[in-house]
Amino acid sequence: TEGDILGSLYSKGVKPDGVQTLDKDMVKMICKDYDVEVIDADPYKVEGLVKRREILEEEDLDKLKDRPPVITIMGHVDHGKTTLLDHIRKTKVAASEAGGITQGIGAYKVQVPVDGKTLPCVFLDTPGHEAFGAMRARGASVTDICIIVVAADDGIRPQTNEAIAHAKAAGVPIIIAINKIDKDGANPDRVMQELSSIGLMPEDWGGDIPMVQISALQGQNVDDLLETVMLVAELQELKANPDRSAKGTVIEAGMDKSKGPFATFIVQNGSLRRGDIVVCGGAFGKVRALFDDGGKRVDVATPSIPVQVIGLNNVPVAGDVFEVVESLDTAREKAESRVMSLRDERISAKAGDGKVTLSSLA
Ligand code: GDP
Ligand code: MG
Repeated sequence: TEGDILGSLYSKGVKPDGVQTLDKDMVKMICKDYDVEVIDADPYKVEGLVKRREILEEEDLDKLKDRPPVITIMGHVDHGKTTLLDHIRKTKVAASEAGGITQGIGAYKVQVPVDGKTLPCVFLDTPGHEAFGAMRARGASVTDICIIVVAADDGIRPQTNEAIAHAKAAGVPIIIAINKIDKDGANPDRVMQELSSIGLMPEDWGGDIPMVQISALQGQNVDDLLETVMLVAELQELKANPDRSAKGTVIEAGMDKSKGPFATFIVQNGSLRRGDIVVCGGAFGKVRALFDDGGKRVDVATPSIPVQVIGLNNVPVAGDVFEVVESLDTAREKAESRVMSLRDERISAKAGDGKVTLSSLA
């Protein structure tokens, strides 16, 4: 009853005064007490929440802390994705770290000044629909916000539509960067018209899609774009519980002649530490070393932070989920059973229509 809920609010330190807005965590907590499903009015968000719930567990709900947003840049070829990433990296990565950045671990952290504070956000370094699509086909969702770059002298092209479809399907909020406004023939208004005709109504025209006009080449308005990213992130209330064992997703992996198998993880919940035992896909091992996006050795990676991990027995696949487990035996068992189920799926996929899709491999 209403009385019970008011009572439990009191017990949590909230003094209800009749008309009051509760923040989402509070609502979630109450719903949890009453075993009621939280329904969010925004359809984009519902999907996002569902996905995040897979990563967050019940026990995390009262230990949540803010985490930085993870951002992917997509858009049609030649519309300026790489130029934008380069500009952000050059201007926003701390000078002390910039040297190491060139090696690249597939993601990097950027400090964005907002309202006199600087807040971190993380960019995935693999612009491209393949990466996003492949990860999604494998059930991975690491991205919190999608920037879609549209060239002001070219407008919506096939890969723009693809990018929009990917972002929508993943339930990820979209920010449009209308790029190349410095060029002769740039027509940002036409781009906005095209976008609104496919259902993306600019905020400036009363819609809900933020659109920022930039020149990635000259760096014009890129700060506005980043600030918009942080505003959208704030609305998403991105949180995780740093005080637990880590879970997350592999975004890049490979083999190094001297280091052996390496993988870049994005931690999505918990904190990953040197010495932890991890299983990811069919690979496992003890974390021998962690490197940040500047190539510097670190002891721990907190939620949303990308780290390169050394110590795995095998090379995992981008999109594989990783988790920390108790012992090497458990890790080995989990990795082996995963390899087995992969094999079974491949066999049954072959017996079926002969096609092996990404999702059947996931
Ligand atoms: P991507 O394929 O989306 O990664 O596009 P690129 O970043 O490689 O850019 C394609 C071309 O457009 C390059 O020659 C860039 O120099 C140019 N370009 C990118 N952004 C801008 C911009 O803001 N203004 C102008 N004039 N050219 C740009
Ligand atoms: Mg490029």
